[in-house]
Amino acid sequence: MTAYQIFTSEQAMRFADEHSELFGEHSKLSATEFGDGNLNLVFRVVNDKGTSLIVKQALPYARCVGESWPLSTDRARIEAEVLKLHARFCPEHTVEVLHFDRALSAILMEDLKQYDILRTALIKGKQFAHLAPQLANYLANTLFYTSDFVLTGPAKKAAVAQFTNPDLCLITEDLFFTDPYCNHERNTIHSLILPSARALWYDTDLQAEVAMLKADFLSKPQALLHGDLHSGSIFINNENCKVIDAEFGFYGPIGFDVGVLIGNLLINYVASPGVFKTPEEQSQQQHYLLTQIHTLWQHFADTFSQLQQTATQDPTLQNSRYQQRFLQQVFTDAIGYAGCELIRRTVGLAHVADLERISDAKQRAVCEIHALTLGRVLILERAQLDSITALLDKVQRTV
Ligand code: ADP
Ligand code: MG
Ligand code: MG
Ligand code: MG
Repeated sequence: MTAYQIFTSEQAMRFADEHSELFGEHSKLSATEFGDGNLNLVFRVVNDKGTSLIVKQALPYARCVGESWPLSTDRARIEAEVLKLHARFCPEHTVEVLHFDRALSAILMEDLKQYDILRTALIKGKQFAHLAPQLANYLANTLFYTSDFVLTGPAKKAAVAQFTNPDLCLITEDLFFTDPYCNHERNTIHSLILPSARALWYDTDLQAEVAMLKADFLSKPQALLHGDLHSGSIFINNENCKVIDAEFGFYGPIGFDVGVLIGNLLINYVASPGVFKTPEEQSQQQHYLLTQIHTLWQHFADTFSQLQQTATQDPTLQNSRYQQRFLQQVFTDAIGYAGCELIRRTVGLAHVADLERISDAKQRAVCEIHALTLGRVLILERAQLDSITALLDKVQRTV
């Protein structure tokens, strides 16, 4: 067993070569590090025929901050194991892991070079009808098959223990639920929206609801979540989408994955006036996003409900009124987490390109304030928004 060391390109190349048949014995390989994420190294290894694979390695600290922010490399194990499990339940939309080395905290996986990152595609105004149905499929299958509707007592307990993920959960606890609602040094707040950001620090009604959502995040192990399903964790092309980057995976509330994804579509929605030049392009994009959110929820709920009715053994959980209430609660939770995502991507540590690349500072501030306003309304009113049409109406009436 090789001891942990931070890969050079050369070492990443050897790792890929050693664990894949794809490259052939004497082929000429090259490797470049091109990760743009916050935490890890990502190498592309290519042979002389253009065949390529990805090597992702966890560093013992957060890449975006440096060694002053130590972070367990066990996250690579979590990522590999979540991706493999999710691939069992939804192989078509989960990136394929080819090899995982625990000592090196390194994952060898398929290269999705024929795809674009969803966030980039959304910012370019590229529209795909299959986005929502495919991701709904991913969410329904991965979340249902890892939930109590399928796992029985001891298997469930073992699964929860396998994915406790304390380090990365703490990042979410802090960055997603805590920092935006207080004057924390990790926050990044553009000066033009400082009054609106500051209002969050004194909004005790909002803080009470965020505390409820955080309590559920901490203590509602419903299913094995992806845990970081923003639009930078999704690859898309004209035929398909695939999910990557599951290092935040743990047993948590199902509404968290659904809500973070919806939140990211809504961030693009509020950013649209700053991203697109003409009013026609803006309204087209916004219409597209609302349609996708509608389909995402509808298809998710239909698929999950179908699975509840056909694939559950426990007679208690076969009760149809229970099943409907369960899904209704997932919806309420998802709206709340979508609201949190809108807020934390606007004033927290980790911003997103949808808003950041708006070059006119005043225009960006208008969009950012919309993100905060919408986020707040969704969190506060989530219990009253009892259908997907009620949610979409609320979005349109709010921003
Ligand atoms: P982090 O955990 O640091 O955020 P990611 O898994 O999100 O790392 O990967 C960072 C970047 O590396 C992605 O935005 C993408 O550009 C590239 N990348 C990661 N995995 C793949 C893959 N399987 N195929 C192609 N590119 C990838
Ligand atoms: Mg990432
Ligand atoms: Mg990324
Ligand atoms: Mg990541």
